[in-house]
Amino acid sequence: MKNHVGELPKLYDAKRIEENTKKFWNQEDIYQLVKERKSQCPKFYFLDGPPFPSSDTPHIGTCWNKVLKDSVIRYHRSKGYNVRDQPGYDCHGLPIELAIEQKFGIKTKKDIEHIGLEEFVTDCREFAVNNSKSMTRTFQELGVWMDWAAPYMTHDDEYIESDWWSLKEAWKKGLFEHGLRVVHWCPRDETVLSDYEVVLEYKMLRDPSIYVKFQVEGKENEFVLIWTTTPWTLPSNVAIMVNPEAEYVKARLGNAVLILAKARIKSVEDKSQSQMEIIETFPGTRLEGLRYRSPLENLVTAQKKLIDARRIVLSKEYVTLEEGTGCVHSAPGHGEEDYQVGLQYNLPILMLVNDQGRFLEDAGKYSGKFAREANAEIIEDLKTNGSLLYAEEIEHRSPVCWRCKTPLIIRATDQWIVRVAHLKDTFIKEVEATRWVPDWAGASQFKNWLANLKDWVVSRQRFWGTPLPVWTCSACVEVQVIGSKEELLKRSSTPTIDLLNLHVPWVDKVKLRCKCGGEMTRIPDVMVGWYDSGAASYASLGHPKNPELTKYWWPADFIVEGRDQISGWFFSLLKAGVVTMGTSPYKTVLMHGFVLDDKGREMHKSLGNFVTSQEVIEKFGRDIFRYYVLQTTIWEDLRFSWDAIKQYSGDLSTFWNTYVFASTYMTLDKFQPQKWSLKKLAQSLRPEDKWLLSRTHRTIKEVTAAMEDYRIHEAVRKLKNFLIEDLSHTYVRYIRRRTWIEKETADKQSAYATLYFALKSALVMLTPILPFLTEAIYQDMFRNAEPKNPETAHLLEWPTYEDKMISDELEAEMDAAKTIASAVAVVRGEKALKQRQPVRRIIVASNSKTARSGLKTYSDLLLEQMNTRSLSGISVEKKTKYEQPESSAQFAKSNFPDGTVYLDLKLTRRDVAEGLARDIVRRIQQMRKEMDLKVDAYIEAKLIVPHKIRKLLRTQQRYLAHEVRAKRLTISTEKTGSQDGFSKAWEINKEKYEFILRELPVPKRNETRRKSS
Ligand SMILES: [Zn+2]
Ligand SMILES: [Zn+2]
Repeated sequence: MKNHVGELPKLYDAKRIEENTKKFWNQEDIYQLVKERKSQCPKFYFLDGPPFPSSDTPHIGTCWNKVLKDSVIRYHRSKGYNVRDQPGYDCHGLPIELAIEQKFGIKTKKDIEHIGLEEFVTDCREFAVNNSKSMTRTFQELGVWMDWAAPYMTHDDEYIESDWWSLKEAWKKGLFEHGLRVVHWCPRDETVLSDYEVVLEYKMLRDPSIYVKFQVEGKENEFVLIWTTTPWTLPSNVAIMVNPEAEYVKARLGNAVLILAKARIKSVEDKSQSQMEIIETFPGTRLEGLRYRSPLENLVTAQKKLIDARRIVLSKEYVTLEEGTGCVHSAPGHGEEDYQVGLQYNLPILMLVNDQGRFLEDAGKYSGKFAREANAEIIEDLKTNGSLLYAEEIEHRSPVCWRCKTPLIIRATDQWIVRVAHLKDTFIKEVEATRWVPDWAGASQFKNWLANLKDWVVSRQRFWGTPLPVWTCSACVEVQVIGSKEELLKRSSTPTIDLLNLHVPWVDKVKLRCKCGGEMTRIPDVMVGWYDSGAASYASLGHPKNPELTKYWWPADFIVEGRDQISGWFFSLLKAGVVTMGTSPYKTVLMHGFVLDDKGREMHKSLGNFVTSQEVIEKFGRDIFRYYVLQTTIWEDLRFSWDAIKQYSGDLSTFWNTYVFASTYMTLDKFQPQKWSLKKLAQSLRPEDKWLLSRTHRTIKEVTAAMEDYRIHEAVRKLKNFLIEDLSHTYVRYIRRRTWIEKETADKQSAYATLYFALKSALVMLTPILPFLTEAIYQDMFRNAEPKNPETAHLLEWPTYEDKMISDELEAEMDAAKTIASAVAVVRGEKALKQRQPVRRIIVASNSKTARSGLKTYSDLLLEQMNTRSLSGISVEKKTKYEQPESSAQFAKSNFPDGTVYLDLKLTRRDVAEGLARDIVRRIQQMRKEMDLKVDAYIEAKLIVPHKIRKLLRTQQRYLAHEVRAKRLTISTEKTGSQDGFSKAWEINKEKYEFILRELPVPKRNETRRKSS
């Protein structure tokens, strides 16, 4: 019958196998076939975490991520689920804007308006679309089966409408509002950053560290001593915080009296290299309400206006005695903690820095200067007016913008907010109801992150994003939140407006008429990209336009992303889900690590350590990439290593050789799994067959459990152990001689039936890991072997196991038998006795029950494997018999953990002849391979041997002829007659030999066929 993937190579050849498989999948549209077949099955909603299409080549970590997802999807299809597999792309956001800015060579937000928003936004869209197409091709190359024809793109109008709808829902519930918030701000990009983005990148920055005297109101020589590392926030000072629970002092320093925490005196003395004299000690509470003067009062306009407002306030949370002076300068417009205390004391929120990070007019002398750059000038002014006690520089980790590396500043700004801070308990309950793999991802990491839950600032002051659907009236206070395009057009004062798409600037052409008669225009903000991706659970379903679809699929059964998504996507999804749908949008979360280089550094193009999946594919292949990443403990970081990949490719060759062996012999013997079922053969199974069946059932059990728990790496490792140790190194070796038997005996068919079952089970379990290799093998060996086999390996049902087939005893006995066999191999090695040399007897002395019963259970197998005529077990007490002086020369021994093996070294003439014959067979086999003969081809063989050997070897003539498939075999001491054929000289046991082989014509059809290994 036709093999759909073409003829397969004898040796593992990833390129050829994978190209053939790809061709087959494309020609027969196998992906669609699989999806259709599963469409009536129970649902499994996999939700793709959308990558940013900010570059055309995905990071290798993203490829690991996609391969993990693919393995889960394939597993669930095999288990009989209708899997939703729509991929997504997170198209909006600053990284794309920055790329387009670069293209135009522009540096500020203003410049964008100069080149025109229409062109800018159109370019952003095109950039996102092109990169997502390129990334898709990479994922497809890796065999990732997702619905690539219809990904969800967060910039599609339909997706944007879903975002709008959900904001309107939040609005209706009173959870969407606008107000002042202290945020991290990038002065270069002129926008707010998320808390999540703030923690992404830090730099060691050198900043001033200064001690400044603030004069107590009405006291010429009395000062509150504060410490700050942000002199540029001093113009915005409105209060000083002290700790109500700490002791404070008035202390004399020169002519001045300073107020500071008692615990900080020593440190200040050290720094200023001067002695202080304590005049008075008192609790911090006594300072509350004390008014003071700002040292910048004469330079900063805003400070002049504040004279009556400035005072000392109390805070035990935010004033520590670990550093500084215990008197904390407070600027609620430039610090989150300051802001909280400011709200509590009803302090004015003074914020003197504009969007570009420059001082406003109210900053007086400093207006127009960049905030951080004004530090030096402010320090100089403090020195001049005598308020600076001491200044130094410190180096500290400060957040910088992860996109443009500019140091961030903190400012209070007007933002749009989705209120979630009050929902903390609900969130924690949802997190507890979610299944987390590993469990600490949720139980500790995510819960820790939620401890600092704040309201969600969703507005961004940029262009390429979902426009916030908020229209405000210029004449009154009316605010309208719009939930869909239809609603927008209905309410538009020009309903026939041609709206190209819902982005800026087109959407801003739509004006609404207010109740008051005034005109309503949209606010300029767009939405943070995290809101887009956070809405994915319902927005990708087109909610609320397709209620049936949502009802069927929602919520997601499974998501998987990297460990950075605790504070990212896992968090956004939860917030959007709870606010709009009322519950968490996912049931199971799997968290994976990062891909680093072999030294543990992040991979960057600039470091020269950036590796792409394409390079791995070109050098080794697609399956190996998958196998390599999938065996990595999922939640740990993967240190990428070419050496490791090379090693793993050896595993795949071993798998391949095992299949080639099985397929070759089963084909030769026309083995029919239908005819020779294991059930039918139950009575002819050997112990080693039963052992392999036990191992197979156990492997199915363990791999299934690992896949159910999303411990995919454990599944891969168990399968590897099964294929390499149990099948290749053990069983295949044990059954070789049984497969050489010509007749269709039940014994031989038992070996085939056992091997077939083991291989097919392993094959199905490998389909999620190695989709290309398994398809090729399936088409070659299994597809036509049984009438009900499906069109593709990827429609095979996941195998099931039976507990009654798993035998702890048989497996333990096999382990013991293998240990004994390797002890015997050690003896042979020490005595230079080849494995091919039969020995008379082997005695095993052991008191281990398992070792002794293992000897009995597997006695036939061990006799053959150890190449001995007899094998016996004795108790340890009886072993002296083989160790007495007269015996010790005859018996060689080796210890193993449970005892000792003894090998009888005495060889008869017959033993020597048999050993030699086997040596010769092995060399003739090698010559047959070099001649590239088919395994069932017949030959004529001439053996030219040393004179003294000829007679000895004649006793083995029949054996030799049979083993090497020779129709004629002659043994002589000289070359006679025709010398035609392939000739080769050999040295065996230091004697010279020559063998001449000639291939004979193919036997007729009904002729008895023999095989050789
Ligand atoms: Zn920036
Ligand atoms: Zn109005």
